[in-house]
Amino acid sequence: GTTIGVIGSGQLGRMLSVAAAQLGYQTHIFAPQSGPANDVSAGFTRGAYDDEEALAVFASHADVVTYEFENIPAGPIEALSKHVPVHPSPAALAVAQDRIAEKTFAEKAGGRTAPWRAVNGPRALEEAIAEIGCPAILKTTRFGYDGKGQARLMTPEDARHAWEAIGGRPAILEGFVKFDAEFSIVLARGTDGSIVTWPAPKNEHKDGILSLSTVPAPKKIAAQHDEAVALASRIAQALDHVGVLTLEFFASADGPIFNEMAPRVHNSGHWTIEGAVTSQFENHVRAICGLPLGPTALTGRKVTMTNLIGEDALPENVAHLLAEPGAHLHLYGKHEVREGRKMGHVTRVTR
Ligand code: ATP
Ligand code: MG
Ligand code: MG
Repeated sequence: GTTIGVIGSGQLGRMLSVAAAQLGYQTHIFAPQSGPANDVSAGFTRGAYDDEEALAVFASHADVVTYEFENIPAGPIEALSKHVPVHPSPAALAVAQDRIAEKTFAEKAGGRTAPWRAVNGPRALEEAIAEIGCPAILKTTRFGYDGKGQARLMTPEDARHAWEAIGGRPAILEGFVKFDAEFSIVLARGTDGSIVTWPAPKNEHKDGILSLSTVPAPKKIAAQHDEAVALASRIAQALDHVGVLTLEFFASADGPIFNEMAPRVHNSGHWTIEGAVTSQFENHVRAICGLPLGPTALTGRKVTMTNLIGEDALPENVAHLLAEPGAHLHLYGKHEVREGRKMGHVTRVTR
């Protein structure tokens, strides 16, 4: 049988493993030494993400390789792709893991972004503030997620504190966007170039972490849907992307403003497991295995996905969800409860 190699051992890979199993595939996981265990997979290789020897052992178990997060060094993945097909391509990975590269790419594809400047030191930060103004957000170019590696500047006087807060790493300064709402386009592209997209969810964040996705999105977002899908499709084609690609947007008075993209299944697409005819996980598996993509229509009138963060997922706090009709509880099997850690989610489908 076919084995899919998945780099990363978090909940996204775990949900990919479930979808793969349903289609008769097995998954083999590449996990960091101390990372969580994807207990749904058939096997494991452990090692550092830049350990080419360990990656080669991992690849020997796999017929095709994919990844569940983009914060892995592109060089070793590129080397891996000489021996086994890697989807999405290392080129897509390289663009999406670097804020400068992804914003530049989106702009070249005709997308709008918040005003931004590359910042590599305190001097450059001062110049960027002078050009962009405040409020603004300083974001590390790499390795950020769930709002980590970011600092807000309300006034230019916050510059020093912000620079220290992000650890003095290469960054971008981004103007604060006055948005009506946030949404994402989750897209899947097959090896034959065919593209499907799911109805766009409205995404609400708390403390920089996704909290709630709602589909269908309200009118303000719906009005910007087609333009955002067109941009996502152009980017997917330009990257020759295979698999799921997610773009985050701000819905603003000036139209959709591109925030960032992820070359993978995405938290704002978890609702598709029960809320869409084909889930993002299944279509990602279909895409990387060269199968035709499945339809993406809603299975109900309304779908919501609520993240369970930290203690939200404790047994006493989820008991009522098991009793709620139409509520689908997902727990990720993480042993250690930490504040701000994504532990599970619940999807509610209104028929
Ligand atoms: P993710 O977990 O989605 O990868 P991240 O750490 O990469 O998150 P961003 O998506 O850049 O971070 O920002 C997190 C959230 O902070 C956004 O969803 C939005 O709510 C807010 N935000 C980020 N940039 C801006 C901006 N320029 N203007 C206004 N709000 C912003
Ligand atoms: Mg991000
Ligand atoms: Mg984001």
